[in-house]
Amino acid sequence: MILPILTYPNQVLRKKTEPVVFPLSKEIKKLTRDMLETVHKADGIGLAAPQVGKSVKVIVVNLEKNELPPFPLYNAKVVKKGFKKIEVEEGCLSLPGVFGNVKRPKQVTIEAQNQDGKIIRITDDGWVSRVVQHEIDHTNGVLIIDLIKKYTGGEEIAKQWKKIKL
Ligand SMILES: [Zn+2]
Repeated sequence: MILPILTYPNQVLRKKTEPVVFPLSKEIKKLTRDMLETVHKADGIGLAAPQVGKSVKVIVVNLEKNELPPFPLYNAKVVKKGFKKIEVEEGCLSLPGVFGNVKRPKQVTIEAQNQDGKIIRITDDGWVSRVVQHEIDHTNGVLIIDLIKKYTGGEEIAKQWKKIKL
């Protein structure tokens, strides 16, 4: 089922999320399937549960263009950051029209759980690193309008949004 993607200033985008418990409930399994369908349909490269109104630590990565099958991660967190930081232009499905350069560590190590609850570690310095850092931010209520130093689009909208206290 395709879910509606919530946009700023929806309050759920700023809420702290709850960890997912294992074995996965039917509800979380369905949420995961729906999120994978939704991110594909929206032509996005990642999606976090708060963007579809659920305050839980579920994210999905959709880098089909990089020939990587779409996958979910549960309770994902960054456990190691590389020293080198790079600026890359980012957008967000919840902040339509807003784009800008975001500085993040190039390489990170992420610890998360897969669908079976198994703890997995991913070290990456490419798109997976970038997308997962953005999506983990969502699960902590952090948005790119908090991080962008130089806008490449939608600066006026972003400035208006930033005046709204959530
Ligand atoms: Zn986003």
